[in-house]
Amino acid sequence: MSEMQYNNLGKSGLQISRLSLGSWLTFGKQIGDDVAERLMDIAYENGINFFDNAEIYARGESERVMGRILKKKSWIRDSYIVSGKVFFGTGGQMPTQKGLSRKHIFEGCHQALERFQLDYLDLFLCHRPDKKTPIEETVWAMHQLFMQGKILYWGTSEWSAQEIMEAHMFAKQNHLIGPIVEQPEYNMFCRHKVEVEFSQVYKTVGLGTTIWSPLASGLLSGKYNEQFPTDTRLGIEGLEWLKDKNITAEKIESTKKLTELANEIGLSLPVMSIAWCLKNPNVSTVILGASKEAQLTENLKALAAQDKLTSDVLERIELILGNKPVHPAF
Ligand code: NDP
Repeated sequence: MSEMQYNNLGKSGLQISRLSLGSWLTFGKQIGDDVAERLMDIAYENGINFFDNAEIYARGESERVMGRILKKKSWIRDSYIVSGKVFFGTGGQMPTQKGLSRKHIFEGCHQALERFQLDYLDLFLCHRPDKKTPIEETVWAMHQLFMQGKILYWGTSEWSAQEIMEAHMFAKQNHLIGPIVEQPEYNMFCRHKVEVEFSQVYKTVGLGTTIWSPLASGLLSGKYNEQFPTDTRLGIEGLEWLKDKNITAEKIESTKKLTELANEIGLSLPVMSIAWCLKNPNVSTVILGASKEAQLTENLKALAAQDKLTSDVLERIELILGNKPVHPAF
């Protein structure tokens, strides 16, 4: 296994590992706590220093599980980065229990800290834009949490470039701490935001990215190529929307061709797909998801695999995908 690589998260001083581990649909839900613990062990032992989470994951349970594991491990607090995300709440139906108002940001942060059993979060992200709350209120609320020592950095997830810039401009004008990072979906089938929409924002404000679903929820492992396997995320009851989003005849066709190419260059498809994300210099970290130890061990090989993605291979991938996003012509 090759050495973990670290880089600055955007233009902040925070050193983040290029691969990280997330807990969506797995911790507190699809997998037992023993598997979650092994995944965190494998990640940490291999130099992963960032663990991603959110209040909505398993309605708070994912943060509880991760918090208990962190407590049990007693890893020194300054050796890892933990994120929380605020917006969706934990399932409460009252209007104050979600969104990006000062009230929910303040309460959501305190509740997350309680579930994690931590004194502060390294990263706190606005999980979606809130059309009902002025961005100014959100920026102020994040700044205040920072001043109180409850969070160290903050950012956004699935915000538009315009919304991110609005937050930045307001923060700058008022000498407040602005967002440093965006968490968008990025994989071979979902490219526009990372490759086109944010291209100016990387330059102007030094935006970092913690990208999610590098395998399109497992589709890019190739295991859906022939027949539908059992015991996988896209077969879980209630997640039909995720299956419909990711599994289409067109994508399966591409995935089959990508599998052949990966094998030809001596890689597995998941490793080639994750390495492909890593090749983008605007990707600060690729958040891995895994329901089994063997998946994580396999996916960690992506670091070393980057060398095999030569310009010739990247071109062949483009030809298979045929979906390179286009930059505006001016
Ligand atoms: P992926 O697209 O990589 O999907 C991970 C899933 O794919 C695994 O749980 C497993 O599911 C399957 N898989 C992974 N590796 C392999 C392998 N080698 N062989 C076969 N199957 C494999 O990432 P996620 O969608 O999990 O996203 C990663 C993280 O990003 C999340 O945990 C979360 O922290 C974050 N995220 C953030 C979002 C946001 O809105 N900000 C939204 C979504 C995720 P299975 O075994 O069940 O098939």
